[in-house]
Amino acid sequence: MTRLERNANLSAVIIPFVALIVGGALLWNRLLDPLDLGVLAVMYLITGMGITVGYHRLLTHRAFETHRWIRYAFAIAGSMALEGGVIDWVADHRKHHTFPDEEGDPHSPHVHDADGVKGVLQGLWHAHTGWLFSTHGQASSRRYAADLVSDPTMRKINRRFPLIALIGLLIPAALGYALSGGSWMAALSVYVWAGLVRVFLVHHVTWSINSICHVFGKRRFDVRDQSTNVFWLALPSLGEAWHHNHHAFPRSAFHGLRWYELDPSGWLILAMGKVGLAWDVVTVSPEKQRERMRVPAAGSVGAGTPASADASS
Ligand SMILES: [Zn+2]
Ligand SMILES: [Zn+2]
Repeated sequence: MTRLERNANLSAVIIPFVALIVGGALLWNRLLDPLDLGVLAVMYLITGMGITVGYHRLLTHRAFETHRWIRYAFAIAGSMALEGGVIDWVADHRKHHTFPDEEGDPHSPHVHDADGVKGVLQGLWHAHTGWLFSTHGQASSRRYAADLVSDPTMRKINRRFPLIALIGLLIPAALGYALSGGSWMAALSVYVWAGLVRVFLVHHVTWSINSICHVFGKRRFDVRDQSTNVFWLALPSLGEAWHHNHHAFPRSAFHGLRWYELDPSGWLILAMGKVGLAWDVVTVSPEKQRERMRVPAAGSVGAGTPASADASS
């Protein structure tokens, strides 16, 4: 990884965090109003779904088919989440599924040298943030994302990532200015909350899938990695926290496989299917799910324990 890449990633981690503290201290109770929260919610959903439905389910795993312009629109929305260019993201994530929790996984919390509590903490740090300074964006795009590399428009979107990310930060400021009837203070306030703080929130929820959803939570399928389902992260992650289900059935458009496994990204794909904007949607039959069920070992501590303690899979 080059020094420029490392510094860019460092800025992308630190600036939104500082914005959260400064914005919170200066603006809370004074300027934070429904406009800030409204634009924050809309931008969170657009950029979050850009990652979950676009970068992840559509472009990485081909969980459904859609029109070309929708693929590009999702790639642009995902770029505004500031998690890297679309082709780099897809290559890293396919590598994660090729070597899940093994040597070669860009962000496994289980590949480290330390033992005990120190090892767990070291692993969590690497999976959540540390990997951004070592393995992020390093998977070969020609090897892991050849389908996207062969698409000139997708290559262009990938190349223009810095510009698209910047536009994603300026849109909230412009909306704040326009919707407040021309107030520069409102523009600044919406920029801080729906721009920088929104990036902070989407970042840490996404990274929690890499860290928390490979260490704590429940498991029910027979998979060789340590992935888990984490119910309290389901809504903020727009359904991605059913990550163990996802590792068991990577191509499924739906990560929530039971009625109570809330999966807003799956709902969007379902709605797109209903209006003819998504087709060939990949689903997993109940029979197939039953076949993959893990048979609990005698004396097993059962579900709900840290995955790292679950040596049977
Ligand atoms: Zn995973
Ligand atoms: Zn995946």
